[in-house]
Order: sequence, then structure tokens, then C-alpha cells
Amino acid sequence: MVAPEALSLLKEYFGYDSFRPAQEKPVQALLNGQDILAIMPTGAGKSICFQIPALVKKGITLVFSPLISLMQDQVEGLRQQHIPAVCFNSLLKRDEFNKQLYQVRSGHVKLVYLAPERLGVDYFRSILLSLPIAQVIIDEAHCVSQWGHDFRPSYRLIGDFINELPHKPVVGAFTASATKEVQQDMRRLLGLEKAVLHITGFDRPNLSFAVVQADNRMQYMLQYVKNHKKENGIIYCSTRKDVEQVYQTLIKAGIEAGYYHGGLSDEVRKTEQARYAYDKVQVMVATNAFGMGIDKSNVRYVLHYQMPRNMESYYQEAGRAGRDGAPSECVLLYSGRDVMIHKYLIEQSVQDPARQRVELSKLQSMIDYCFTSGCLRKFMLAYFGEHVSWTHCDNCSSCLHRQAQRDMTPQAKLVLRAVRMTEERYGLSMITDIVRGHRTDRIMRLGLDGLSMFGSLQAMTEADVKGFIRMLVGTGYLLMTTGKYPILQLTPGGEEVLAGQVEVHEVRRQIVKTGHVGRNATTTRRQGVSSKESASLFEHLRQLRKRLADEQHIPPYLIFADTVLIDMAAKKPKTLADMCEIKGIGQAKLKRYGLAFLKVIGSYIDKE
Ligand code: ADP
Repeated sequence: MVAPEALSLLKEYFGYDSFRPAQEKPVQALLNGQDILAIMPTGAGKSICFQIPALVKKGITLVFSPLISLMQDQVEGLRQQHIPAVCFNSLLKRDEFNKQLYQVRSGHVKLVYLAPERLGVDYFRSILLSLPIAQVIIDEAHCVSQWGHDFRPSYRLIGDFINELPHKPVVGAFTASATKEVQQDMRRLLGLEKAVLHITGFDRPNLSFAVVQADNRMQYMLQYVKNHKKENGIIYCSTRKDVEQVYQTLIKAGIEAGYYHGGLSDEVRKTEQARYAYDKVQVMVATNAFGMGIDKSNVRYVLHYQMPRNMESYYQEAGRAGRDGAPSECVLLYSGRDVMIHKYLIEQSVQDPARQRVELSKLQSMIDYCFTSGCLRKFMLAYFGEHVSWTHCDNCSSCLHRQAQRDMTPQAKLVLRAVRMTEERYGLSMITDIVRGHRTDRIMRLGLDGLSMFGSLQAMTEADVKGFIRMLVGTGYLLMTTGKYPILQLTPGGEEVLAGQVEVHEVRRQIVKTGHVGRNATTTRRQGVSSKESASLFEHLRQLRKRLADEQHIPPYLIFADTVLIDMAAKKPKTLADMCEIKGIGQAKLKRYGLAFLKVIGSYIDKE
């Protein structure tokens, strides 16, 4: 049970009646003066876990964070709630710096955000050492470890700095993901040997997952974006070239899009990121360079234009959807070609054989995810070491298309037998020609038209047979060798199919026409904005939010999250007291924005 004082501050400043179950332990630990190492998924509400204790405690809370944009976002968010916070970063002009320092020294500021690089500046470090610091928080704490994907050497300065402080503060390290090695590094390098470990589940129930085998990705993508016209989304592409092509296609179709990749200048990247954060554009097309620092809470979908290289990257990128907890979609488009390209790239770019094996096995898990006929969420959670008791989540494309699974064992046996009978000497095209009964010169010369399975799959198109064979490769029933002329070979799994010990099921995933991700896309949305009228009121509220945000030059989601507007549109509050009932509106925001929103709701009701 969390202390009553913390609960009343939560209501007053943030407008929430209770902490989420996963927040209680870290909040209470910090309040009790106990160090904590918390691993909680994106959207779990990590910030509030230390911001509330910061308000309760006497003294200052220092928050180390890796990116200026992240810090500015958090500080602006806090100020919107009348919580005194500042951010010391390298962009500050001297007079601004001095002004903030004065506020901090005079005891007016509760939270001070800074990048760890600042600890390398002696003058600034000595100022920090002279302040009454009650709490030190390390956000994105995995950056301290070399094992993580975002290693930042300056994070290593934090441990020594904490030791140097005259009074030991309470320390909290927060991250969304950390393997065992990264956890050990965080403990050792941040002086958290005795810290309480808090790991919550990885599941993100508000996200729906879909895997789509799209024959024409561009067409699917365009239709999808058109179907989600008023929503914010990210489209991740594997290469810069794809980013540019997808971006051009969207622009030509009249869609407001931004683009982002490592080949652009710093300035262009900064402008594009800001345009997206401020809702000036609806869709961001990007490579994985568009990553940490996107704190935008109202991303309603993340569409992967190609299959990523491993599950870690996928979950991290897809996880940028729905930070505010509202229903959001994660769609992955894949084709057999993605597999071939990734294999080729790994073989070319990773020299160390052991490392190459690791990369290839990670890729295999990604492929298995695309081909599994089981629950995608369960698959993903199991990959990250979390085993759940349920079988179906009913919120992923596998669960929602269970009935559409086809038993393809007879067809698989025919293909596998063709590979075996030709003594594993041929590749994809030749095996396809054999099972489709294509009498090419070569086939006739070699007498392969006499094989028993010759022409047995002639009812299938060439593209379907090739796709099916790639699926057999992807799911491990066949192996495709590398090199200039890849050859198909049987695997032990394939032998099991031939022996009748294993069945092969194929999930039909070509849902290209409408761009809807199965039934789920519509059902989840209905849970969000529950009727046509609410949807139209929601739109009015969104416009007001955008106007208010533009006036202040801040991103709209800092005024109210989408979830708050959805709730307002459904409940249609008539008075400020009614509005207080809506989750996520604290006293400061109620005073500042309440009447403006009530007015829009009032005139909407009058017109009805
Ligand atoms: P994280 O940093 O873990 O990704 P955030 O701190 O950005 O998550 O919080 C995600 C969302 O959850 C925000 O919109 C936040 O306001 C909301 N949230 C946090 N705590 C609560 C709570 N106790 N009740 C309802 N919503 C909450």
C-alpha cells in the first residue's frame, strides 16, 4: 500500500486516482529510502514512479537522461502540471543557465534533469555536489552497459558522482529492457548492489500485433495509412532508399509525412523529428535511426515495411506505439525475400563466426515469429523469457484468424519429396517448376518430368509455390544454402513431416485489400472512441488541443494524452467538477484548460 500523501499528490498533480499495480513497489521503495532497479516496459509509467517521491521528499531529485529532447519533453510536461522542474543542457544560454541555477539554489525546484556528460564539467559538478540532493534517478539506465545497444560512456561517471555526494541519496535506475548481463552492469557501475529489483511483465495489452504477408507492400502501406488518416504513425523501413520511396509515395498521395534516416543532416533530422512531435505531420517514415528520444505518447500505429533483423529491435520499435495506454497497432509486413536479404547481410557484414551464429539464430526467431500459427504475443513474451498460462490473446493476427489456418501438410510433403528425389541438387526455381509441371528444356533434358510429384501443385501460381517454399525454409523444414546458386536441402524437421510425425499449417495473411488488420483493428478502436459521435467530438477536442499547443510551441500530447480526450469525448463533462472525474487531469491543467474544453463539448452537445 502506497503512502496516502503520495496518492493525494498523484490525484492533485496528475489527475490519477491510483497507482498502477506495477508502480506501487518502486514508489514505495523510493519513499522508504531504498535504492531500486526497475525494469518496466515502455508505457508502464516509469516517470511517475520517481516524480511522486520527488514531490514528497525534501530536497532535489536529479534525473540523468540521455537526450535533450527527452528531458525537455519531461520538464515541459511537469511545468504544465505546475511542478517546478528545470533541465541543464548544452543548448542553454548563459543567462538562462544562471537563472535556473538561482531557482535551484533558492530551493524552488523539485526536479533537475541533466545529461550525464555534464558531470565531466568540473565547475558544474562542484555546484551539484553543493546542492541538497535527496534522490538520484537514472533514466534509460541500460546505457551504462556495454552489452546494451545504447552504450553511453558518460553514464559511467554517475556511480562516482553518487559516492562523492556528502549525503547518500536514494538511487533509482529505470529502463525498459535489460538482459541479465546489463542488469549486473547496472548494479556494479551505478553502485546498486543492494538495490531492490523490480521487473514487471513485458506485455503491452493495449498493443495489437499483426503479421501480414503483403505481395505489394507499397499498396498495402498506402491503403493502411489512408485507413488511419487522422492518426499518428511510424513506418519503419530497412534502408534509406525505402524510406525515400515510401515517403515520396505518401507525399504524392497528399498525406502529410516526414522522413528520417542517418544520411540526412543533423538539422534536417531535427526539424523532421520536431514536425512529427508537434503533430505537423501525421506519419514518420524512418530507418531504425529514428529511435530513442521519441517520447511521443500518441503514436497509434507502427508499421514495419520489412521484417527487422531480430526480435529485440522489433519489440523496441513496435513498442513506440501506444505509450499513453490507448489501443494501438503494430503491423509487420514480411516476405520471403526479407529473410534472404538479412541472411546475406549478416554473412557479409559479421566476420566473427560465433557472432554470426548468434545473429543468424536471432534472425531465425524473427522468421519464426512471422510464420508461427500460434499467438504472436505469447511467442514474443516467451522469447523474452516470460511464460504465460493463456494460449490466445485474441488481440493478434494469429488469434483473430485462427479459423483461417490451412493444413498444408500434403503440399509440404510434395515439395519435400521433390527436394529429396532430386538429391538436394536444385534451388527454388527448379523445385517450383517441377511441382508446377513446367516443361522447361532443362527439366526435359534431365528427365525430371518423370518424377511422381511432377505437376502435382499445378493448381497453385508460381508466386504462391515460391512463397510456400520460402515459408518451409523460414519455418525450418527446408534449408537454403547461401552463395551464388542457393540450393534447397532437407532438415531433420522436414524429415519429420515426410515421416508423418509433424503437420504443416499455413496462416493466411494476405489481407492486402482493405488495409485493416483483421477484425481487431476495428474492435480495438471501438474500445477507444466508442461511437461515431464520440469520434467526431474527439476530433474537435484534438483540434483544440493542437491550437493550444501551437500557441505555446509545445507538442500537443503534453497538454492531454489521447486517452484523456477519448474519455472526455465519451463522458462529455458539463462542469469543471465533472471534468475532474476524467483520469489524467490534474488541478493545474483543469484550471488552465478546463473551460476551453468544456466550451467545445458544450457547443458540440448543442448542435447534436
Ligand atoms: P514510460 O516512461 O514507462 O514509457 P510514461 O511515464 O511515459 O511511461 O507513462 C506512460 C503513460 O501512462 C503516460 O500517459 C502517463 O500519464 C500514464 N500513467 C502513468 N501512471 C499512471 C497511472 N497511475 N494511472 C493512469 N495512467 C498513468
